[in-house]
Amino acid sequence: MSIKGIRGFKDILPGEIEKWQFAEGEARRLFGLFGFSELRIPLLERTELLSRGIGASSDIVGKEMYTFPDRDGDSLTLRPEATTSIVRAYLEHNLYLKEPVGKYYFIGPMFRYERPQKGRYRQFHQIDAEFLGVQEAEADAEILVMLMRYLTDLGLKKVSLQINSLGCPDCRLPYKAEIQKFLRTKSESLCEDCQRRLDTNPLRVFDCKQATCQALLAAAPVVLDFLCADCRRHFERVKTLLNGLELAYSVNPRMVRGLDYYTRTAFEVVTGELGAQNAVCGGGRYDGLAEEIGGPPIPAIGFAIGMERLVMLLGEESNYSRHPDVFVAALGEEAQRRAFILLQELRDVGVWAEADYGGKSLKSQMRRADKMRSSYVIILGEEELRKGYAVLRDMATKGQEEIAWGEIVRSLKSKVGSEQ
Ligand code: AMP
Repeated sequence: MSIKGIRGFKDILPGEIEKWQFAEGEARRLFGLFGFSELRIPLLERTELLSRGIGASSDIVGKEMYTFPDRDGDSLTLRPEATTSIVRAYLEHNLYLKEPVGKYYFIGPMFRYERPQKGRYRQFHQIDAEFLGVQEAEADAEILVMLMRYLTDLGLKKVSLQINSLGCPDCRLPYKAEIQKFLRTKSESLCEDCQRRLDTNPLRVFDCKQATCQALLAAAPVVLDFLCADCRRHFERVKTLLNGLELAYSVNPRMVRGLDYYTRTAFEVVTGELGAQNAVCGGGRYDGLAEEIGGPPIPAIGFAIGMERLVMLLGEESNYSRHPDVFVAALGEEAQRRAFILLQELRDVGVWAEADYGGKSLKSQMRRADKMRSSYVIILGEEELRKGYAVLRDMATKGQEEIAWGEIVRSLKSKVGSEQ
């Protein structure tokens, strides 16, 4: 039997890849307008960086990382997310000294050992944006506007933004005591995972998918009611700015995020169209992360969009698929030789030109042109060659015209150019 790919690792084939290219292209275009530059991080990081950055009590560090010793015995990990690496790079290259406001984006694969299912893979891709160096609520609002503009520009309609504030360590401490007290009274009814979370990371209980745990949480205290005056002011300002831009959102006081580093504003974009894996994007403020990994305190906020889920929402593949501008059908050896040169001349002027191989019949070549959904076909037979012209067929209207040999390239270039 032939050797198959790995579970949770997916090939992305032509037919689907056009959607990926579209989504990536739109991100580069729009994020550029907001002043974000691309920053590329490596696939591997030191395990220590990720456990300190993401947090030892997170699910990612606890059970999902692909970690292995390299040949020198150093512990390395395939990156499970981008934020920690981007902050590492920002500190390591002293970017914060050169440019106090850093705006970066990154597109690439991440690796987490999760149970694969629809919308959840072990290698998946994220589009990340990170806005560093600004503590004011304007940064929160700006990154949310950019995110929602991006999703709207892609044509997604059924997505909604949920926001919350997780407070700062000062307000989270009394909250943590309160939620632990509440959960301890119900601990026997909590699932095994939540019983563990109760001690290590009680906020994460809100992330549990078990219906029994969710039902218990309906009456649980929420962190929003414990915010200190500064955090409350910050959250109010974010909402005022979003309202001023008429950006739709809802406050979900039960939404928390799985990574330990989040502070204050946290958000998620969800959809009703993807079943259980309904989060398209997650993000938030992480003012303590830079310090946690050994740098100075640097306020920051960012998001990560899951590309597999995004692409699932993009709809009909035919809307994104590309097709040739012209198919050159040639009959006879001399016509084939001339057609081969014509193909390259057309490509030289920016026309996507295709042909078949192996001297097939005209009927078979026309079938292939049709299958490829070519806009035009040039038919070049012996008679046409002798008389110095070719037949140009418009595949949409089925109209045909004769066209002088020397005019073909120019004529197709202008036809294709005016369609674009
Ligand atoms: P996170 O980095 O966990 O905040 O996730 C941000 C986004 O990445 C989520 O909202 C998902 O869209 C996507 N994502 C996270 N984990 C996976 C996975 N295992 N497979 C596919 N997409 C994922």
